[in-house]
Amino acid sequence: MPIYDFQCKRCGHQFEKLVRVDQSAECPACQAASCEVVRLFSSPAISTQKSRSVSLAEAKGRSKAIKKEKDHAQAEYERNYIRDHS
Ligand SMILES: [Zn+2]
Repeated sequence: MPIYDFQCKRCGHQFEKLVRVDQSAECPACQAASCEVVRLFSSPAISTQKSRSVSLAEAKGRSKAIKKEKDHAQAEYERNYIRDHS
């Protein structure tokens, strides 16, 4: 199912929604009926997907950095433990 961009004509709110081709969406901000919501055909679906995979990669990098920090803390703990108990 494709993600479409919609804009509410009533409040101007823009949002993305996963819909069937023949479906429309209600405004999540002001609950305007779907007849008041226009689908934006200049949908940045591809760039959205791209930015998603970028943020996913960023998240992966972050968790790697966190793991490194944890390993470091563990090594320090073991060092201190050995020092204090020998
Ligand atoms: Zn609205």
